Amino acid sequence: MTSMLFPRSVFALPVCALLISSSAAQVRQIDGTTTLFNNVRVFDGKGASLSELTNVLVRGNLIERISPAPIAVDRSATAAIIDGGGRTLMPGLIDAHWHAMLVRPTPAQALGDVGYNNLDAGDEATDTLMRGFTTVRDVGGPVFGLKRAIDQGIIKGPRIYPSGAMITVTSGHGDFRQLTDLPRTIGGMLSRMEQVGGSMVADSPDEVRVRVREQLMQGASQIKLTAGGGVSSPFSPIDVVTFTEAELRAAVEAAENWGTYVTVHAFTPAAIQKAIAAGVKCIEHGFLMDDATARLISEKDIWLSLQPLPEELRQGFVVGSVERAKADEVWPGISRAYDFAKKYKIKTAWGTDVLFSRALAQRQGAILASLVRWYTPAEALAMATGTNAELLALSGKRNPYPGKLGVVVEGALADLLLVDGNPLDDLGLIADPSKNFKIIMKEGKIYKNALPK
Ligand SMILES: [Zn+2]
Repeated sequence: MTSMLFPRSVFALPVCALLISSSAAQVRQIDGTTTLFNNVRVFDGKGASLSELTNVLVRGNLIERISPAPIAVDRSATAAIIDGGGRTLMPGLIDAHWHAMLVRPTPAQALGDVGYNNLDAGDEATDTLMRGFTTVRDVGGPVFGLKRAIDQGIIKGPRIYPSGAMITVTSGHGDFRQLTDLPRTIGGMLSRMEQVGGSMVADSPDEVRVRVREQLMQGASQIKLTAGGGVSSPFSPIDVVTFTEAELRAAVEAAENWGTYVTVHAFTPAAIQKAIAAGVKCIEHGFLMDDATARLISEKDIWLSLQPLPEELRQGFVVGSVERAKADEVWPGISRAYDFAKKYKIKTAWGTDVLFSRALAQRQGAILASLVRWYTPAEALAMATGTNAELLALSGKRNPYPGKLGVVVEGALADLLLVDGNPLDDLGLIADPSKNFKIIMKEGKIYKNALPK
């Protein structure tokens, strides 16, 4: 009967439109619940010291008021009043280089059962939030479904700024095909890693535009390309520059048309300089940069997204393997990159880049605490909160969570941690979140409360 009234092609249209509008409407509604934190010392995500004892009122998903004078609230059923007992209230942590879908699986599993991988990543997302990370910038992986499920409250996890698939050239970092998969025909069959959305191969400006726009269509808040060789990829020597400047520029143009930016994986001066010439706004890693390149990054006001990769990770690569040789070349650059970042006052973001290791993910806070090699605890914490949030805001009109993140100020989004102790005296406190984070709040909602009753 339906098909008599509505020819098939006409019928298909409104159904499609309905599906789209209902998914957008499913984002969790914010209620007017209030939480009052009394007697806390605030680390605001920027400064070098804690505030005097103060009180912080959260209403809905926002920090409404901060005042050393008592704040009055209705003692209704929807108001929670928490005695902070002089503990530290600070912004939720932000990891600027995360791969939510690639934390737990082995590389082979990542190409395997998509349903299982999403459930596993969902469980890891909950762990991530329970470590105090309320936001991550995801720089590669099929993360759109996970993000949607978290935003809808189906599963607990951090806010996710998704890049979608990493975009790479044939043989580049992120091309995990085997030689038996060659040759590729443009417009032909996709490899398994492309089918699951882990990375996409593009070998011309036109192909780059297609792949970038596909990620934007799926909700990418920024675009990630690999502009040079990588440690873990089998067919990309460290020294190579992968995309041409025209290809990089095509990505930048497509992203900027959508009001957002491109970030690139790049180690060497040549790869970094080519990316900057093409209009890329953020460099991931940059470990093999030289003095002139560091100065260029600073002068052009480009973001540098650094990771204090643990030494055990290098030692995890088998001695004598190609990957180990590449790791041995890259690792000494980590400390040099931090020295350059400080020397030239480069806008520096912090992240972990945990891949294929649940055990390492559990040390996410410890990896942040390892920044004390180069920074004061306050500088390190500001980097993982207020500064990282500035990088997130670079996604402009594609920002999935407009509002202030990474700071404790009136009007900011209420992503908060109540810490037992003063992390500005002992940054090691953040390495043990299960013990030291007494309250974890995201978007005004308490996900953990371990204060004594
Ligand atoms: Zn990465």
